[in-house]
Amino acid sequence: MTTNLFEKYLNIFIQIIHNWFTSKSFTSNVSSNQVLYPKKGSGQFYKGIAHYICSQNQQVLLDTEVVQVKHNSFLINELVLKNLHTGQEEAHKCRGVISSIPINLLLQKLSPSPPERILNLVKYLKFRNTILAYLIIEGNQIFPEHSLYINDKSVQVVRVTNFANWSPDILPNCYQTPLCCEYWCDFNESIWQLSDQEILVQAEQELREIGLLAQQTVSSGFVVRLARTHPIYTVNYQTALLEIQDYLKQFQNLQIVGRGGSFSYFDQDMVLLMGMSSAKDLLNSLKAL
Ligand SMILES: Cc1cc2nc3c(=O)[nH]c(=O)nc-3n(C[C@H](O)[C@H](O)[C@H](O)COP(=O)(O)OP(=O)(O)OC[C@H]3O[C@@H](n4cnc5c(N)ncnc54)[C@H](O)[C@@H]3O)c2cc1C
Repeated sequence: MTTNLFEKYLNIFIQIIHNWFTSKSFTSNVSSNQVLYPKKGSGQFYKGIAHYICSQNQQVLLDTEVVQVKHNSFLINELVLKNLHTGQEEAHKCRGVISSIPINLLLQKLSPSPPERILNLVKYLKFRNTILAYLIIEGNQIFPEHSLYINDKSVQVVRVTNFANWSPDILPNCYQTPLCCEYWCDFNESIWQLSDQEILVQAEQELREIGLLAQQTVSSGFVVRLARTHPIYTVNYQTALLEIQDYLKQFQNLQIVGRGGSFSYFDQDMVLLMGMSSAKDLLNSLKAL
């Protein structure tokens, strides 16, 4: 795609985001202490973005891992991508990269590799993982809040979300409620090693123990494991991050975005804005090359 075309598409895309926020796709019962929320959940955004990209004859590759980021004197010219279904790897030429993968992983994928000193700093940028245990409850009006933080040492669950209260349009019917129990942990913690079934049993037991579930039955559930969701701000992280960012600034066609990419505790609104401004910055730097 030429730079001008890309710029045109970017502006149309920004308009789409604006229209979403002002359209009927958002819950209408918004008052001063409520947030605007897409009626079908925030996945609406990402499906819309993917749809828009495909409509412009561009590709969105899901279940694909970036295994290598090749560069020549700090100019990225090729990505090696692995299809996670077939295991097949393929090299793709590229002019510019906006990376939202965790910053420590990006450094390890650069080829040629960064200096040893930079790679050693990665140990100061650690993340926590999240396990999401979704339980389908037979019943409605389980509790009135959107999400509850659980501060109770007798259980491991840290947050419980009731999607019925985010937007009723998410629900498939009026007699079941999906609840999500969150567990934050490291890779080596015992809960990360449990099977999905064991996690679901634990989540149900804990909801009963803290009184969020009473007589209602749990008819089914599923588990989603998300690696590296929360950057950990340790004593030395800022110094290490600054040095890594200075190193990455030398790349002429690379923009770093997102929560894991920038190692900052950003929410979705912030990372969407970051993505848009990084696209503009990348276009400008490509013009200068
Ligand atoms: C449980 C939970 C609840 C949250 N609730 C809210 C909320 O209510 N509102 C809100 O605004 N924010 C919320 N957040 C925060 C929000 O999810 C993040 O701000 C947002 O997802 C960050 O987007 P991102 O693109 O930076 O990172 P991510 O969404 O984490 O995307 C990074 C992607 O990179 C992929 N990746 C990693 N390595 C590679 C590789 N080598 N090759 C290819 N892909 C790779 C990962 O699989 C991931 O899909 C929540 C987060 C969690 C964990």
